[in-house]
Amino acid sequence: MALKTKPTDEFRDHISTVDDQGKRIWVYPRKPKGKLYDYRKYVSYLLLALLFAGPFIKINGLPLLMLNVVERKFVIFGVLFWPQDFFILVVAFLTLVVFIILFTVVYGRIFCGWVCPQTIFLEMVFRRIEYAIEGDYNKQRALDRMPWNTEKILKKSAKTAVFLLISFVISNLFLAYVIGIDELQKVITEGPLNHMVGFGALLAFTGVFYWVFASFREQVCTIVCPYGRLQGVMQDKKTLVVAYDYGRGEPRGKLRKGQERTEGDCIDCNQCVQVCPTGIDIRNGAQQLECINCTACIDACNDIMRMIDKPEGLIRYESEEAIETGKKWTFFTSRVMGYTAVLAILMTALTTLLLTRDEAEATILRTPGQLYQKTEQGHIKNLYNISVINKTNHDMPLTLKLLDKSGTIKVIGNELILPAQGIAEGVFFTEIANEDLTGMNSEIEIGVYHGDELITTTETKFLGPAN
Ligand code: SF4
Ligand code: SF4
Repeated sequence: MALKTKPTDEFRDHISTVDDQGKRIWVYPRKPKGKLYDYRKYVSYLLLALLFAGPFIKINGLPLLMLNVVERKFVIFGVLFWPQDFFILVVAFLTLVVFIILFTVVYGRIFCGWVCPQTIFLEMVFRRIEYAIEGDYNKQRALDRMPWNTEKILKKSAKTAVFLLISFVISNLFLAYVIGIDELQKVITEGPLNHMVGFGALLAFTGVFYWVFASFREQVCTIVCPYGRLQGVMQDKKTLVVAYDYGRGEPRGKLRKGQERTEGDCIDCNQCVQVCPTGIDIRNGAQQLECINCTACIDACNDIMRMIDKPEGLIRYESEEAIETGKKWTFFTSRVMGYTAVLAILMTALTTLLLTRDEAEATILRTPGQLYQKTEQGHIKNLYNISVINKTNHDMPLTLKLLDKSGTIKVIGNELILPAQGIAEGVFFTEIANEDLTGMNSEIEIGVYHGDELITTTETKFLGPAN
């Protein structure tokens, strides 16, 4: 098929939701319907179920996911990470970034349209409640324009009340992922007076979520989201995006009864524009900054194509290159291969780090201000401070042993008990025969045991007389 003219790029000079005076243009998208919208609904039900179940799912007594930035404790898939695991977290973060880049290079903004919590909550929860209370886009517009009367007061109050309630639920959910469900339960059951900070956070986040979903809406994707802003550098002409096949659709023209059609397949019905939640016209070109690849325009256009007896897919998932050249979209490009290689290396490094990670981490330092003591048998004693971090969810009574020298270790005071997810601190003497020392400053290696299991080792200095 001979390719026809691609639309101009003038639309890229401004965003669709801001007018010439810099004022917000409120988007009233028509209620979407269609096969892809149904699939998106099922995916969102599944993801919402997982999101709400997440805080209650525990692995070895630890939550599935907890990102407690306040106490600097992070649990990912039931594995507890401390700031001491910073290195692993950096590699995990890099792996995630490369995965996101790779995914975006290949599949564009599929994440935004199908998985992103912002889209799911806005399009599948808040927007549907809005349709249920205020009606479809034309009724919403009319309601906003009418003066305040009983109908408007009732509808707007009902919507605000339901939106606030859901925002409060989301705020609880969000906090459950930060402080854990057990702490959240305490905030709820023990009352606000005993948990002023927690309760204050709940209310503050409720306000933020309400504002985002009731007012700020698509501006999150258009202005704030860093992932959205980076699309331009990650996508290329081979990336799969929601695209309008201008070769087939142009020149567009209204359908006129009884007249032989000389134009392209686009009948300029504007249905694709009316359903767009970010207020753009996909026919302006693929990879528009505001397009979250939600597929609503695909469904709308497919509906029209069926009605006028044309093949579906005038708007479809396709790469810009495929639209331009008519060639089939291909997954294997040199860019994808490069990112895949880097991802494979990072994943190998991450797996190795996780598999070789100790259950505990010990820091042993000689007690400041102390030299060494000589015993009656001529042995040398050094005093040490020990601090051990537990990366598991069970208590561990600890014993210490010298690994590379013969000698004894005596803990001062009570037995060292390492609490679950906690820290144990103690003081101990190490005693070594003078003849076993290599000089005034010998290296020694100490093993930390839980029963017979060596859980971590650490090296430190041992002071002695000059031999
Ligand atoms: S819905 Fe399809 S036919 Fe209608 S204006 Fe959009 S692209 Fe053209
Ligand atoms: S252009 Fe289509 S895919 Fe993109 S945001 Fe609008 S409706 Fe969704």
